[in-house]
Amino acid sequence: MRRSIATVSMSGTLRQKLEAIAAARFDGIELFENDFIAFNGSARELRAMCADLGLGIDLFQPFRDFEGMPDDAFQKSLDRAERKFDLMEALGAPLMLVCSNTSPLALDDAARSAAQLHALAERAAKRNLRIGYEALAWGRFVCLYGQAWKIVEQADHPHLGLILDSFHTLSLQDDPAGIAALPGERIFFLQMADAPLLPMDVLQWARHHRNFPGQGQFDLENFFLQVLLAGYTGPLSLEIFNDQFRETPNRRTAVDAMRSLLLLESQVRARLQGARDAAPAGPAHEAAARTLQRIELFDPPRVPVLDGFAFLEFGVDDDAAEALGTLLAQLGFTRAGRHRTKAVALYRQGGIQLVVNAEPASPARTRFDAQGPSVCAIGLATEEPLQAANRAAALLSARHESPRGAHELQLPAIVVPGGTIVHFVPSAGGAVLDADFVAEPDSTPALDAGLVGIDHMALGLAPDQFDTWILFAKAVLGLERGESLELADPFGLIRSSGVANAARSIRMVLNVSLSQRTRTARQVNATGRTGGGVQHIALGTRDIFATMERLRGNGVRFVRISANHYDDLLARLDLDEALVRRMQSLDILYDRSPAGEFLHAYAEPFADRFFFEVVQRKAYDGYGAVNAPARMAAQEQNAESTKK
Ligand code: MG
Ligand code: MG
Repeated sequence: MRRSIATVSMSGTLRQKLEAIAAARFDGIELFENDFIAFNGSARELRAMCADLGLGIDLFQPFRDFEGMPDDAFQKSLDRAERKFDLMEALGAPLMLVCSNTSPLALDDAARSAAQLHALAERAAKRNLRIGYEALAWGRFVCLYGQAWKIVEQADHPHLGLILDSFHTLSLQDDPAGIAALPGERIFFLQMADAPLLPMDVLQWARHHRNFPGQGQFDLENFFLQVLLAGYTGPLSLEIFNDQFRETPNRRTAVDAMRSLLLLESQVRARLQGARDAAPAGPAHEAAARTLQRIELFDPPRVPVLDGFAFLEFGVDDDAAEALGTLLAQLGFTRAGRHRTKAVALYRQGGIQLVVNAEPASPARTRFDAQGPSVCAIGLATEEPLQAANRAAALLSARHESPRGAHELQLPAIVVPGGTIVHFVPSAGGAVLDADFVAEPDSTPALDAGLVGIDHMALGLAPDQFDTWILFAKAVLGLERGESLELADPFGLIRSSGVANAARSIRMVLNVSLSQRTRTARQVNATGRTGGGVQHIALGTRDIFATMERLRGNGVRFVRISANHYDDLLARLDLDEALVRRMQSLDILYDRSPAGEFLHAYAEPFADRFFFEVVQRKAYDGYGAVNAPARMAAQEQNAESTKK
């Protein structure tokens, strides 16, 4: 399909927007009139700039308050339209968007609207231009695509067609099923936008909170499917009004935009293929088969089946390597080997593998120099590492090539938003790392603390990274989004959302601080706003009481939880008092769901950068978010008492 995007969707000057859009390989743009009005060049110069970048100007928008007007206002609007037609000719823009009238002067008269749009289309036809009519969700008399279509049908002019916009249809909870019955050649343009479901005024919602397909909660697959079944073959375009996108670096926004379209195309392609191949063959089968023949939809390698975290790698220097090694030994990890050629150590416990990388001049060390000790790479286990990396590349992730010594293992790797590296590791990944590491002869095994696997990781993100990460996790890794929560830190709100695979072998929590004063914000800012830093690593155990006693005995320091918290726990939940007091003695937090239970405890931060969490999960699908405020308050109070 031809892929397009409205210039209003990005930050920057018009020239910068166009360069970012071209770099993400769009075919065309919707030129938002305000961007042109503020542009320091002529229409012909803009046309040449777009041509140089390989971009067509697919649509000129918006032309407002035109149809259904009293006669004198209508005549003035025709004059206004002629001037904009002059401009469109100079720009080489073939199509004008006319959105449904919001003026208090507008009349509730569909026949009048049809006649006036016919007259406009007649003028446009003389210049070989076309008019697309779009129902705005807040239009005075026309707010549904069905109403707009009736007017277009009645106007009956070949240079007049319909423009569909998913936001207007889905924000009003209008049923898109009727679109499939429209004649596809009369749909002149398709605009897609997603959005979170927010109970608010539709105009404010539309102007500030739209986002890219896959970032919100609308059913865009179904909407797009209906449009394709109608026979539409024109551009697939994005028109996103979003306050955050107005400040996000536009190269990233453009990549997110393209990634969202590629994912949407691939999802709808899969649905059409499913319908085509379903038995018994019927009319739905025929329609799906015809649609697949008519239009080319993006077809990336399959979503990889992920089998868990194969390893985590920390970027450190020599001092931090020693300090982290001490902490890991206290946590029950055995130093299992050192790298054949590099200053890198491997630690193991249960199924957990942690790599501590202090190699000078390595990407890990560069990361350490920039932001202190941090998780610089993540290994994800999968049966098909190459396929996983190929999907990521097809969906616009950058590949990562590690500097590699002789006989060293090469794992396909990508750079994820924020700069962390993800390696795709063959399942049965333990043996894979053995190839690069040799056993340390003098290493004595640590006393195992019963930690068996990586339960989840939490990332602290800059606010503008959140939508980028949601889309990346969904498109590239096939992770599903859980519910979003807002949690109270002593110094502001944290927005938190889990992403996990269907098997729940990969779980991540994305945390964004809405305040600049929280620990999360301070940590994210310490990373130079690259974002995407691992904040905490949750290690799973099957017996948290035994594990905590062992770890305490080893000298691991845990965040002290207020006694008041446990009194409240007893008041809220029907729990055995002796059990709660035992939790209290070990600073273990507790949550439960209808089906299960979650017990967890937070170790004190390492070098003020990240911390470990110990968790025991019993048929429970969340992350103990209800307890995060207790943890955040405890961390601040611990810091306060240390200072005294
Ligand atoms: Mg629109
Ligand atoms: Mg956690």
